[in-house]
Amino acid sequence: MKVVTTLAEMRELRGQLAGSVGFVPTMGYLHEGHLELVRHARAENQTLIVSIFVNPAQFGPGEDFASYPRDPERDLALLEKEGVDFVFMPSAEEVYPQGFTSWVEIEKVSERLEGATRPGHFRGVATVVAKLFNIVQPTRAYFGQKDAQQLIVIKKMVSDLDMNLEVVAVPTVREPDGLALSSRNSYLSPEERQAALVLWKALGLAQELWDKGEKSAERLRQEMTSMIESEPLAKIDYVSIADPETLEELEEVDRAALVSLAVRIGKTRLIDNITLGE
Ligand code: AMP
Repeated sequence: MKVVTTLAEMRELRGQLAGSVGFVPTMGYLHEGHLELVRHARAENQTLIVSIFVNPAQFGPGEDFASYPRDPERDLALLEKEGVDFVFMPSAEEVYPQGFTSWVEIEKVSERLEGATRPGHFRGVATVVAKLFNIVQPTRAYFGQKDAQQLIVIKKMVSDLDMNLEVVAVPTVREPDGLALSSRNSYLSPEERQAALVLWKALGLAQELWDKGEKSAERLRQEMTSMIESEPLAKIDYVSIADPETLEELEEVDRAALVSLAVRIGKTRLIDNITLGE
């Protein structure tokens, strides 16, 4: 496994590769969710490249960029075990040199949910992912269903801008009790960790009511909202039942629907989702 820190070297190495290239972009502090993406990519491609870059452009002022958890040594040891060929770990100066002024903006699907709560977030995500795609030129890039809206935004970018690669979605990896793995779970105190289960419980409730025949999206949102509100440490950012492609809120769940939510547990903001009627 080779660690690469400059764009020039990554580009040079990429140029020497023959066959398919799988790519997994991450912000590091790796857990089993990331490793699941890595395993899919390893199985399906001749060469595997993973990037670790905490992207300042996707954090808003007052968000956790400075305190975002980092442990590059541990990350590298985990990736080595998974048989990764190259780890690309550029500095922020390398990715955004002085005078950088170009941004990728995906309209509409970026404006809802996460985009509404975190203005500029998806502009930062789309820009860095576009840059990474240009440098790595992957055959396939792997993203987690955990960040459902991010996946939709990236797919839209790839399609709208004619990027020559396949975007592969990987199902969410969860703790045995249902909590979706996230680097931000490390912020939770034991009491908050317990309270954080309410996200999974609320998604389970939506699934259960829908299975029993409840098709009113508003009823489903209301039931989920009251369940989350009964948890004293939880504060809702949004509860959404939307079209899985346009992210427009639904009235009736009479076709596939993305049920997604963002909830603050103490100071930690967590997101999760499921799809109904797939
Ligand atoms: P991040 O490091 O948070 O930017 O995540 C890097 C990639 O890992 C993204 O495509 C995420 O959607 C994915 N990911 C994060 N958590 C999980 C999880 N619990 N299950 C599956 N994929 C995940």
